[in-house]
Amino acid sequence: MAIERTLSIIKPNAVAKNVIGQILSRFETADLRIVAARMLHMSREQASAFYAVHQGKPFFDELVEFMSSGPVLVTVLEGEDAVAKNREIMGATNPANAAPGTIRADFADSLTENAVHGSDSSETAAVEIAFFFPEGVCPRTR
Ligand code: UDP
Repeated sequence: MAIERTLSIIKPNAVAKNVIGQILSRFETADLRIVAARMLHMSREQASAFYAVHQGKPFFDELVEFMSSGPVLVTVLEGEDAVAKNREIMGATNPANAAPGTIRADFADSLTENAVHGSDSSETAAVEIAFFFPEGVCPRTR
């Protein structure tokens, strides 16, 4: 298995709940390393651009409103099979279907306010990492 990088966002509802540390700790426990981090409050324009792939879908406006409603913590996670591993730790998009012990099962408030984002492929990850870290991310240190 290759060492990969993936983009994670701790969404506004999870930041508001004060569980950033608990979520980061789950990544580290799963042997994912935090190799970049940035806290920001996205504008509607930024959130729309980040989720451009969902433009036109019925949930788009609500999603943009939510993602720009408060600060988020964006991180780049590195590790073996990081994309799939992160998706597993996150749990299903709809928290009603998220396996017990996953981040979404524990911290989501609804389908929209589902606590975390994670890239869905390594190709998407590269685009998403460049979106939030245009200056680049430090090279591997291991
Ligand atoms: N979402 C929503 N309603 C839906 C589907 C998705 O509000 O019916 C939101 C939810 O916050 C989700 C995000 O849109 O995390 C992106 O959807 P995607 O299908 O890409 O799910 P993810 O990759 O985040 O699991």
